[in-house]
Amino acid sequence: MPDMDPTRYSLTARWIFPVSSPPLENGVIEIESGRITAVHNRRPHPAAVDCGNVALIPGLVNSHTHLEFSDLQRPVEPALPFTQWIKSLVGVRREHPATADVILQGLTECRAAGTQLVGEIATQDWSTETYQSPGIRTIAFRELIGMLPDRIPVQLEIARQWLDQSDTSVTRGLSPHAPYSVHPDLYRDLIQLAAEKEAPVAVHLAETLAELELLDRGTGEFVEMLQRFNAWDPQIIARGTRPLDYLRPLSAVSRGLVIHGNYLESVEFDWLEKHPQVSVVYCPRTHAYFQHSPHPWRTLLERGINVALGTDSRGSNPDLSLWREMQFLLKTFPDADPAQILAMGTQRGADALGVGSEMGSLEPGKQAQVAIMPLPTTANGDPHQTLFAAPGNPSLQSHTNPFLSL
Ligand SMILES: [Zn+2]
Repeated sequence: MPDMDPTRYSLTARWIFPVSSPPLENGVIEIESGRITAVHNRRPHPAAVDCGNVALIPGLVNSHTHLEFSDLQRPVEPALPFTQWIKSLVGVRREHPATADVILQGLTECRAAGTQLVGEIATQDWSTETYQSPGIRTIAFRELIGMLPDRIPVQLEIARQWLDQSDTSVTRGLSPHAPYSVHPDLYRDLIQLAAEKEAPVAVHLAETLAELELLDRGTGEFVEMLQRFNAWDPQIIARGTRPLDYLRPLSAVSRGLVIHGNYLESVEFDWLEKHPQVSVVYCPRTHAYFQHSPHPWRTLLERGINVALGTDSRGSNPDLSLWREMQFLLKTFPDADPAQILAMGTQRGADALGVGSEMGSLEPGKQAQVAIMPLPTTANGDPHQTLFAAPGNPSLQSHTNPFLSL
């Protein structure tokens, strides 16, 4: 007989990957009112739902994307030089203005590949409804851009208004876009505002060697780009500036995301090590698209720095599947620990986005957001290798008691 309490049920599966603890063969997840109450591999309740030859994993976390480009069929070209790619992307946006429907399309694509939480960069004041898609939660960082001093008051006002809208379905943060597009004073003021409002912050940082050249010497392709936009003043960025100067203000915020961090160096590692509220978001396929030098993600993890994963947008990635991002990472680094990659796509992402106590792993007290991955019938051996070798994509399990439909 099914449990008569319709909010209580349990699931069993060939493998359960809690992420917070080792995988359990023939495991059981007990759920009550949408929360996990127990995870074990003792005898299941007689009415438990047997999911069969599958792995149950936490819903995935895509820590960085720009959903407004979700209708692009292929990445924007040319990939290099980077400022040409930006120019092409700006051209695409001018021809096809962003719409709420495209954002919804992106959320649907993320969800279809087992993603339950998204760190999104919002270039407009989208309504709360824009992000309301069943089974997926959004942390929306309002993008602010302005290299010249006269842009500062307007951008600060946009940021203030964004954070002052109160709603429970979307968490609001700020994204001072990047050192090459934000005046250092605007950057500092935005970080201070986010700190006052206890809002998370995401900033693209140390993404290209050209960015480092701009900060250090005030030369290179970004100067040409800023001149084209009539936004270049050689006095704005002091010579000898480096990514560390953009990290330091983040010590005031409750949660910070360094997007990419491709060219962070040891002085930045030292700072990040001392500031666990700041994570680095690595976007493996986008990183490969721009042919960057190897990303320091393993060094960061070894030093105790949190690293999460993102797809970035379809402007630089063929799709928004975080699972494919994880598989690509393991394929690129075959000697990497797959358990670590699974954590980067789940718990580490939830931690980076500030909701790690609610999501990211399958353990008592957390929301019962579970993704299901079918396993090959012949699967034997290391459970993480088996999981990553499975041919499909994970899909999100419904949050309702399956008995209700009986
Ligand atoms: Zn980005």
